[in-house]
Amino acid sequence: MSSKVARYPGVEITPEDVKAHRYLLTNYETELRYAWSSGVAVSRFLSGLERKQIWARECDGCGRTLVPPRMYCERCFRPTDRWVRVRDTGSVVTYSVAHVNSDASRREEPILVAVIEIDGASPLMGVLHLLGEVEPERVEIGMRVEAVWRPDGERTGAITDIRYFRPLAGGEGGTRTG
Ligand SMILES: [Zn+2]
Repeated sequence: MSSKVARYPGVEITPEDVKAHRYLLTNYETELRYAWSSGVAVSRFLSGLERKQIWARECDGCGRTLVPPRMYCERCFRPTDRWVRVRDTGSVVTYSVAHVNSDASRREEPILVAVIEIDGASPLMGVLHLLGEVEPERVEIGMRVEAVWRPDGERTGAITDIRYFRPLAGGEGGTRTG
């Protein structure tokens, strides 16, 4: 409404009209299909995971090795320079013991979510992933971990091709190797 329009033309439909089925109502299920591109860098990163490989991009401007890879260095404002393969081991940078699911429902067993700094990448470069085969009270910052890959034939080119990271066998200490 405005100062010139005191009343819209036509007849208003009231909630009572709707409840009384004075108007035709119809329900339908929408079927939405999505397709999107992961981009050059993440596409190659994901297809590498299918082959149990973690790929990064190097930037000659700042000398960093970026994981997940990107074709553009946000620090140097220039394209990155080359692909390099990094290891599937790393160190826990930070972690959380989660007692709730993503829908806020309570979990019987907590899940361990961690940022893993990947060996061969620059400091603090890495992935957010799950920890497994470790008790929550044993997780610590700097803990050395390795990827546990899904078996051949079950990997699909997704970050979940890595099931989780587990403590590195041999009890290697929590030193940063990046
Ligand atoms: Zn750079």
